[in-house]
Amino acid sequence: MKGYNTLFPMGFHYTGSPLFAMAKRLREGDPEIIETFTKIYRIPLSTQEKLKDPKSMASHFRDDIKKGMTEIGFSIDWRREFTTIDPLYSRYIEWHFRTLNQRGLITRGTHPVAWCPNDKSPVGVVDTQGDVEPEIGESFLVKFEKDGLFYPTSTLRPETVFGVTNLWVNPEVTYVRAKVDGESWIVSRETVEKLQHQNHKVAVEREIPAGEVLWKTVRNPVTNSEIPVFPGSFVEPDNGTGVVMSVPGHAPYDYQALIDLKEKLADSAEAGQFLQTTNPISIIRLEGFSDLPAKDLIQKFAVKDQNDPHLEHATQELYSKEFHDGVMKENTGSYSGMPVAKAREAIIQELTRQGKIETLLELKNAKVVCRCGTKCLVHILENQWFINYGDPDWKTQAHKCLDQMVILPEEIRAEFNYTLDWLRERACARTVGLGTKLPWDPSWIIEALSDSVVYMAYYILSKYFTKNWVVFKKFEKNTSKLPDAFFNFTLLGEGDADKVAKETGIPKRILSAIRMEFEYFYPVDMRHSARELVSNHLSFYIFHHSTLFPERQWPKGIVANGFVLMEGAKMSKSLQNIIPLRQGIARFGADPVRVGVLATAELGQDTDFSEGLAASIQERLATLIAQARKLGSKKTAGKSNPSALDRWMISRLSNAVRTATSALDRLRVREAINIILYQLDNDVGWYNRRLGPKKSKSDSRNRVLRRVLETRTRMMAPLAPHTAEEIWTRLGNRGFVVQSKWPIETENERDSSAESAETLIRQVLHDSSEIVKATGMTPKRIAYYTAADWKWQVYLKALKAAEEKMRQGDFIKEVMGDPLLRSLGKAAADYAGKALHQANHMPDEMRKSRLQDGVTAEKTIFADAADFYARELRCAINVWQEGASGISDPKGRARMAEPYRPAIFLE
Ligand SMILES: [Zn+2]
Repeated sequence: MKGYNTLFPMGFHYTGSPLFAMAKRLREGDPEIIETFTKIYRIPLSTQEKLKDPKSMASHFRDDIKKGMTEIGFSIDWRREFTTIDPLYSRYIEWHFRTLNQRGLITRGTHPVAWCPNDKSPVGVVDTQGDVEPEIGESFLVKFEKDGLFYPTSTLRPETVFGVTNLWVNPEVTYVRAKVDGESWIVSRETVEKLQHQNHKVAVEREIPAGEVLWKTVRNPVTNSEIPVFPGSFVEPDNGTGVVMSVPGHAPYDYQALIDLKEKLADSAEAGQFLQTTNPISIIRLEGFSDLPAKDLIQKFAVKDQNDPHLEHATQELYSKEFHDGVMKENTGSYSGMPVAKAREAIIQELTRQGKIETLLELKNAKVVCRCGTKCLVHILENQWFINYGDPDWKTQAHKCLDQMVILPEEIRAEFNYTLDWLRERACARTVGLGTKLPWDPSWIIEALSDSVVYMAYYILSKYFTKNWVVFKKFEKNTSKLPDAFFNFTLLGEGDADKVAKETGIPKRILSAIRMEFEYFYPVDMRHSARELVSNHLSFYIFHHSTLFPERQWPKGIVANGFVLMEGAKMSKSLQNIIPLRQGIARFGADPVRVGVLATAELGQDTDFSEGLAASIQERLATLIAQARKLGSKKTAGKSNPSALDRWMISRLSNAVRTATSALDRLRVREAINIILYQLDNDVGWYNRRLGPKKSKSDSRNRVLRRVLETRTRMMAPLAPHTAEEIWTRLGNRGFVVQSKWPIETENERDSSAESAETLIRQVLHDSSEIVKATGMTPKRIAYYTAADWKWQVYLKALKAAEEKMRQGDFIKEVMGDPLLRSLGKAAADYAGKALHQANHMPDEMRKSRLQDGVTAEKTIFADAADFYARELRCAINVWQEGASGISDPKGRARMAEPYRPAIFLE
């Protein structure tokens, strides 16, 4: 509508494990998925039988989604449709990866990754249940020792080893004695697998019930003191090693656990002896705290027992305070006087040299579960393939690309900058799922977030693959016959068309056509996607484009959307509030769904769909169609001079075109809907109310209303296309509204004096009704007195004086300098003071526009509106100017009249 060719294509991403996992659950008869398919998606059981194969499931939903997109009115170029497992797409991704590899951006190395032990494959956000992005964190294993047996305990604060009073093990848990890299360790059974995945050689010697180690002693690796092993049921066997060092002086959890244990075992003879001598040790000095900061915080947070959730807050507060401000005490040997942060580094170095500490990698987010149902862990993957997002030159390019892009909403730009900086090597291949094999190592499949970042360029190719299938079908069977030279020429403009034509057998005219079309449409002007993809997919999109394509073909903009909520709640299976798109369209109609989704939120926010909203939008759209029906297809002949009211309506329309266009330019769709549907409805309502039921001036009314509706229809076309086309045809237009021009605001149709006159009429109607209400009378007659000319003169002077910040005394003096005004005496001086006060307290914009409008012909305005007032207020209306001859002013009200504030008299 604005004169651009717009390419809106669509493809289907089949890559990865989600389809695999879902088809498997269906095959295994998982009741939850059967219920979802049956109740929410209404797929008959006989059809579900066919969906047990991943590809069949994919094509079922692809068909359904496609139908939905057609029914909702998306104008998609389906000639370009493809899936990411089409052989020629795979060929394209091979080219993509070979190109990255040639540029040195694919590395092979040994790195920790989140891992599914069942699939024996790395996992990323798209591979986990609930789309959790696995985060890897490092902790330290400080090794306590007794008789050649090591008890490694996991901690983030190795410097607190000086303050250890005891170890905790869970009395309910089974431990093992295992040879780990030649040493004998005691760890929980769950730890064995974790250690193995991190390249430790582990051989389990035997299982050890917790009782065997409880109430024994072990030796502190730095102080050499003997400390006891106590039972702690809070110790989780799969967190760390299942053996925990206890620092009650500086760890609130340990302090509370020690208190609880002492209370519980006060009478136990065996325990008593140990417990009596076990007391918190103070090793860190912290300004503003006692010797035992853990105790202080337990008291501050009023912690009741070790299950109290406040313990977490206490722990976090102390951890951060001690790290930043704590100083090691005299009882920490050579670390005495050192800041905690520095001591931590130093002690890690010392213990590493002595072989008394190791590192352990763990998933920081509590429970990461693979789509196959297996709990994930950290695996050190050797010789795995990575995309090196840490490459400094590549980062610079990506930042340059981002800096030139439009990002909507702008506030997410910071998140992009953060991600571009933070990204490092990222595993780019999996062993399971659908997708393209890594061209130089076919035992790996390129994963879903790596094969989906430059697919936009493929839309140009896919059209020609479909259109010239006779030429391209031979490559589908044997994709290796389609050489990289083909992609280099069509997408990068490298090489020679004649040569490529000769090598591939693809006619030169087709090669040149593809190249031309690519140059015509690329780069992508706007990529719309979900906000939660900023930290992965959308940042990768920037990275890959910035290295693959020349700068002029880098992406121009990204728009990030929020979620669609249902009646204020997130859609979820358990809430049973999911409405699949096609069912929504069937229930509410396509346009109410579109507008309903768009009307409640701006970009980046979650939008809140509700049945009530959809129903009210449906009604509003139906009213517009009814208006079109009433106006009919016959244009009104002839031309009459527009009235002030007509000029007001056209001015409002003109204003709506300007503001709605500017809103849509910034993709503030909600604002645009508000203007086009709601604000203009109110204006049309007022226009009709002002004209009243009489049809005598129907000529100009219909012409104005037709103009308004036609213009609104053009603006509705992108929002509610079906309704817009219906109205367009009913108004007697040919062709499609979507092929007509977007309305342009005509400067000279903006009429600020018509607008302010109408505001005045509305205000006076409101004031009159209020008076009627307040007095409780049913007036026979209402008289409006407009201000005398001299008041206008003073009023305009006052506006000017306020602009110039003139003092009241000076202003009154100036007014009274005019002989005519002086002759009016006190009345003029009083009004001058009042007018300046008003002018000083008025919004700048109003003052400016009133100054510009000058003397307003209020008498004429109200006289023209007399019929309207008579109709609205159901009585006779008189209009006089203050001081006019023949004025009827029984109660002397006229002298109260002021500009923009006529005096009102009821009788
Ligand atoms: Zn798995």
